[in-house]
Amino acid sequence: MARAFPRSAAALVLTGLALVPAGCGGDPPPAAPPARAVRYGADGRPAAPDVVATRRLDVIWVCLDTVRADAFAPWAKGDVAMPATSAWLERHAVAFTQASSTAPWTGPAVASLFTSLLPSAHGARELSDRMSLVPAVTTAAEILAAQGWFTVAYTGGGWVGKGNGMLQGFREPLTPFSFAGEAEHVLQVFAGSRAYRPRFLFFHTYEAHDPYLAPPARLHAPPTPPPEVDLAAIDREAAADGGRSLVRRFLLDAATREVVFGTAFGGPRKAAVTRWLERGYRDDPEGPALAAEAKAAYVAGLRRLDTALAGWLAALDDLRLLDDAVLVVTSDHGEGFGEHGTMHHGRRLYDELVHVPLYVRAPGFPPGRRIAAPCSLLDVLPTTLELVGLPPLAGAEGASLVPLLAGAPGRPVPSEELRTGTETGGDDHALLVAVRDATHKWIRTTDLRTGTSAEEAYDLVADPGETRPLPPGTRFPPAFEEVVRAQRRPR
Ligand SMILES: [Zn+2]
Repeated sequence: MARAFPRSAAALVLTGLALVPAGCGGDPPPAAPPARAVRYGADGRPAAPDVVATRRLDVIWVCLDTVRADAFAPWAKGDVAMPATSAWLERHAVAFTQASSTAPWTGPAVASLFTSLLPSAHGARELSDRMSLVPAVTTAAEILAAQGWFTVAYTGGGWVGKGNGMLQGFREPLTPFSFAGEAEHVLQVFAGSRAYRPRFLFFHTYEAHDPYLAPPARLHAPPTPPPEVDLAAIDREAAADGGRSLVRRFLLDAATREVVFGTAFGGPRKAAVTRWLERGYRDDPEGPALAAEAKAAYVAGLRRLDTALAGWLAALDDLRLLDDAVLVVTSDHGEGFGEHGTMHHGRRLYDELVHVPLYVRAPGFPPGRRIAAPCSLLDVLPTTLELVGLPPLAGAEGASLVPLLAGAPGRPVPSEELRTGTETGGDDHALLVAVRDATHKWIRTTDLRTGTSAEEAYDLVADPGETRPLPPGTRFPPAFEEVVRAQRRPR
């Protein structure tokens, strides 16, 4: 009989489980070197029947949508926007300081996290209502569910919601979720569900996402009535200021966002917003002021998230819920505030968008270490498989992070972005591919209407802001050149 995961504090009583510390499992060393890769089916079952997970650890992945790496202490250049969470993670986890996302927006990046496949391989990369993760792919949740893990997803919804295949392998997702709104509730449920071990819990929140500082999402919150707005006046104002006022509403006015912009893609006001973010910003003398205002609101949202998340992590630890667990804290992409003459996310592959925070806490991982070897969101699933004692996933494009702890060098990793014109009203069709390691970035942009390509490259050590392109013909280290050559192939 299927077991129902307790969803409320009342359900805790039914489980009969008190909030008492579990036994400490100690810190065994990292798992043995990986076995040969095996094929896992679309339902997550391994092709070889004798493949069984040998370490039944809880697995907790936290994906903080839109949180830039420099929100955390290891990457911050000035004030740390998330000091409490940084301090907790510094004490308890390893920071992988050169982690790249595979894409600059949610859908393709989270699909890569789940599948260890690049967007061009998993296919969930078109920014439109049609975006979906096809059933044929194998996801982390499917693999762990097939091994007996109880799989639960708390998400912000949207791209990581119901109906687009993204959450295949999870039971009914619980959405919309935020740490600022629901951390305590989730802590109680988590603590009260020890009988369901091992569990794979995926947490995803839009707390840093635009509209910045929106009220924290709450599970089962009743809908709020739509506000009264004068759309004709809004459109007149936007026509007079080149669209800047529309952008301001889009980024900062949570209360009216849905009624002004709707939820579907390609609407004229949304397209006007994207055109200003992409092209209008650099010609608008008021652009930097709006970027500064938006960034202040974004940082305020990070601070609210920081308080809730740090408290949640500390409480999990106090209850000893992390003793026998793999904990990953990361983001799907960052956010731009004028660094390259544009704002927001998606559409570009500069570091403000694809350099992401990545922390892992696991038995045997020495807390406080910072590992500067280049790696990717693609590596989270292979790492998890190794830590629970499962063989690698055949066809995975990522690799376990465990060898990096012993000094392995990491590898240059790709990112991708497909622009289909949906956002801007149909005038921009391009494929971007990038390769990044700890010292270099290479980006190739192909116009899909003309077939012409342009390449740019940066020295991330001398020029971390990626503002001074290296001369054409610059040679890179051989391993980097090899990945660049692979990315030049059509996809
Ligand atoms: Zn996102």
